[in-house]
Amino acid sequence: MRLFDSHAHLDMTRGGMDGVATLLDNAWAEGLVGILTIAGATKTGGYDDTFNIAENDSRIWVAAGIHPHSASRATPDALDSLRFVLDRDRVVALGEIGLDYYYNHSEPAVQRRAFISQLKMARDAKLPVVIHTRDADNDTIAILRDEGAQEIGGVIHCFSSDQKLAGAVLDMGFYLSFSGIVTFPGAIPVQEVAATAPEDRILAETDSPFLSPIPFRGKVNEPARVRCIVDKLAELRDVDPEEIGRITVENTARCFGISI
Ligand SMILES: [Zn+2]
Ligand SMILES: [Zn+2]
Repeated sequence: MRLFDSHAHLDMTRGGMDGVATLLDNAWAEGLVGILTIAGATKTGGYDDTFNIAENDSRIWVAAGIHPHSASRATPDALDSLRFVLDRDRVVALGEIGLDYYYNHSEPAVQRRAFISQLKMARDAKLPVVIHTRDADNDTIAILRDEGAQEIGGVIHCFSSDQKLAGAVLDMGFYLSFSGIVTFPGAIPVQEVAATAPEDRILAETDSPFLSPIPFRGKVNEPARVRCIVDKLAELRDVDPEEIGRITVENTARCFGISI
C-alpha cells in the first residue's frame, strides 16, 4: 500500500522532535511515501519548527501561508516574510489560506483581504494553493473566480461541504482532499462528493493532530491514519484500497509538482 498524507501539521506534534520521530516511524511503516506539512498555521506563529522537521527527511514537503484564523496578523511585514519563505527548499505550495466563518477568529473582511493577497502572491510565485474554507462557500468561490484561481491551481483541503462547492472548484481545476470527516456517519454530503468526484482529483489527508478518523475519533491524530481515509474512500467508491492509495499518491504528486 502506497499512501500520501496531503495535509498535516507536524509542527504541532507533542513531545518535540522525539514525538515527531515516533510519528514519522509509524507513518513510513504504514506505507506513506510522503507528507505535506503546513507551516505557519499555529497561533504562536513561525515557520522554523516546520523547516527543522522537513530538512531532516526528503519525504516531507512544506506549504507555508497565513491561516484564515490568523488573518488579522497578515500585515505587510508578515506577507513579506512569507514571500521570503516561499523560496525555501521543500516548499511546494502556499497555504493554508482561505476563509473560516465558523470560528471567525479574524473579521470576515480581514480574512478576505488576507486570502486575496496570498492568492496574488501564489500566482507571482507560481505555486499552487492549499485552501481552507468553512461556512464560507459562496465567498470562497467568488474570490477564487475573481482572482483567476484556475491559473493558480491547488486543493480544497479537509473537504467538508457538498456537491455545489465541489462542482465549482473542480471546474476551476482544483483537487479535493478528504480528511477524517469523510469517515463520520453524519457526513453524508461529503461522502457523496467522495464517492463521485473524478478519480484524478481526489487526495487523502489527516489534518493531524486534528480530526482523527473513525475508529480513532477524539484521539490525537497522526499521518499514519491516512490509511483510514483511503479505506473509506475505497469503500465509498467500491474500489480496492490499494488502488485508492496509488491514485491519491499520484494525484498529490501532480497537484504539487512533486516527483516521488
Ligand atoms: Zn484547515
Ligand atoms: Zn490544516
